[in-house]
Amino acid sequence: MKKIIDLLIGTNNQGKLKEIRELLPKYIRIFSTSDFNLKSPKENGTSFEENSLIKSKYFSKKTNLICLADDSGLEIDFLNKAPGIYSSRWAGRNSDFKKAIKKVYKELTKKDKNWKNKKIKARFICALSISFLDKKIICVRGKVEGTISQKPKGINGFGYDPIFIPNKENKTFGEMSSSKKYKMDHRFQAFKKIKKFL
Ligand code: IMP
Repeated sequence: MKKIIDLLIGTNNQGKLKEIRELLPKYIRIFSTSDFNLKSPKENGTSFEENSLIKSKYFSKKTNLICLADDSGLEIDFLNKAPGIYSSRWAGRNSDFKKAIKKVYKELTKKDKNWKNKKIKARFICALSISFLDKKIICVRGKVEGTISQKPKGINGFGYDPIFIPNKENKTFGEMSSSKKYKMDHRFQAFKKIKKFL
């Protein structure tokens, strides 16, 4: 058996925390940022990778624990990859994803009022990083390709789940069971790559 290691998950997003918990092996003892009453640092990086590293380094330094952090978001090709690293910011201070989804539809309509006749390609990206106590860092990227649905569907998941249809499926992530989504999404793909470092 592998020895137990303590690991802090560097996110204040409960949806992500739940998903990451389920992906980690049992020999890992998990802490969350709420166990330490920590606020998130400013994410002023210019890529998912940079923002992920800002978080894992910051939380590791604050707690003296190995920290796993992610930065993720939705890229829509027709909107020049927006919202991208601004995905959570589109939801505003109150993390109102109805508002963020409205903005997606507004921007698509601004660009082309007949956008519904087009296939709107999009992908979720996840950069996962680990900051170890000896300053070693690791960062990987996972993604899932899909399209934007013509209207929001389903109430499962979080964030942009109700408007994202992964390729080869006809349901949005919001309509899928969480166990099905977790096995195909961007975070799972990134986990497959980072697992060997834990
Ligand atoms: P951050 O990584 O905390 O900066 O925020 C990324 C944002 O992207 C989240 O707040 C969500 O809105 C969105 N996002 C990331 N992963 C997912 C997902 O699996 N489903 C839906 N939205 C997601």
